Amino acid sequence: MTSTAPATSTPELALSLQGIEHSFGSHRVVKGIDLNIRPGEVMCLLGPSGCGKTTLLRIAAGLEPVQQGRVALDGHEIAGPGRAHLPPEKRSVGLAFQESALFPHLNVLENVTFGLKHVNKSERRGRAMALLEQLGMAEHVDRYPHMLSGGQQQRVALARALAPRPNLMLLDEPFSSLDARLRDRIRDDTLHVLKHLGTATLLVTHDPEEAMFMADRIALMRDGRIIQTGTPYELYCLPTDPFVVTFFGEVNELDGVVENGEVATSVGVLKADWLDDGTPVQVMIRPEALSPRSRNLPASEHRHSHVVMAKLLGRASLVHLCAHGQNGEETHLHARVPGVYLPAPGQPVEIELDHSQVFIFPRRGASPR
Ligand code: ATP
Repeated sequence: MTSTAPATSTPELALSLQGIEHSFGSHRVVKGIDLNIRPGEVMCLLGPSGCGKTTLLRIAAGLEPVQQGRVALDGHEIAGPGRAHLPPEKRSVGLAFQESALFPHLNVLENVTFGLKHVNKSERRGRAMALLEQLGMAEHVDRYPHMLSGGQQQRVALARALAPRPNLMLLDEPFSSLDARLRDRIRDDTLHVLKHLGTATLLVTHDPEEAMFMADRIALMRDGRIIQTGTPYELYCLPTDPFVVTFFGEVNELDGVVENGEVATSVGVLKADWLDDGTPVQVMIRPEALSPRSRNLPASEHRHSHVVMAKLLGRASLVHLCAHGQNGEETHLHARVPGVYLPAPGQPVEIELDHSQVFIFPRRGASPR
C-alpha cells in the first residue's frame, strides 16, 4: 500500500507587491519593488527619508495609482495592468498615519465604532471597548479629540483602524510624533494588539530600533529599491551590503586587501577566503565587537594599543582606542563596552574581537591589485 502525504495548503499572502515602479513627473521614486507579507506578519519598511517608503505604502493602500506592477491582497489582485484599481474603502485595510485624523465632532467611542456600521450594536461597543482597553484608553471613551493628548489621539486612531478587523494594517510612522517614553509604551501596546489579533501589518519607519522592536521581518530600502529583506537577526548579523551595516548604527571602517584568503588589520588577521586575493575590501567592525582589556604595561609602551579616552553613555561605555597594526600603523577605533568601563587615557590594552560582528565587503569601484 502506498501512502500519500496529506495535502497542505499554503495560506495566501496578506499583501503581495510585484514589480512596482512609480514616478512623480520625471522623478523615479520606486524602482522595481517586490514585497510579500504573510498572514499575521509584521513587516517594517525601513529606510532613510525620501527613499520611497510612504509612496510604496500609499500604493498598497490604493491612495496612489499603480503605474507599473501588481498589488494583491489575500491572493486577489486588486491593481495591475489592465485591471481596474479597487478604491481604498473597498480594500480590507486599516490605515494609521503620523498625524491621527480623528473626527473632531465624535467622542472616542464613536470614533472607534465609526467603521463598524455593519456590526450589530452590542458587538460594536464590545469590540471597540476591548481595543481601547488594550491600548490603555478605556477610561477616556466619552472624551472628544481636542480633550486628548497627542499620544492618546494616536491610540484612538490605532483602535479605530483595527476595529473593523482588517486583513492588513498599513501604518506610516505612527509613533513619530510622540515623546520617547510614551512612544515606547504605545509601540509595545500596539505590537501586542497586532499579534493578539494576528493582523498582517506593513509599518513604515526610518528608525532601525523601532523596526527591530516591531518587525517579524524588515525590508530595508534605499533610493527606491529594497536592499535586503529578512528577520531583524538576518539584517543585523548577516548583512548583504555595507549600507545595511551602517544603517543599524555606528561602525568602525577599515581598508584592507585580501592576501592568501585573509585581511590584515590593526585588530588582527581576518578570514576572507571567499574573496580573490588582491581584492581591496572594506572591513566594518561594530563597536560592540571590540573588547579592550587593560594590560599592566607602562603608558609609554607604544607598541601596544591604548585608550585615547572613555565616556559613560549610560547602559554602556564608549572607549576611544588607538590600535597599532603590525606595520606600525595607527587606527582610531570606537569600542562599546556594557556597563561602566572608564580606563584612563594612555592605558595600554589588548583588543579582543568578536568576529560575528565584523563584516567584509569588496570595496565598490576598486579594481583588484
Ligand atoms: P520620509 O521618511 O521622509 O517620509 P519616504 O521614504 O516615505 O520619506 P516618500 O514620501 O515616498 O519617501 O518620497 C519619495 C520621493 O518622492 C521623495 O523625493 C519625495 O520628495 C517624492 N514625492 C513624494 N510624494 C510626491 C508627490 N506627491 N509629488 C512629487 N514628489 C513626491
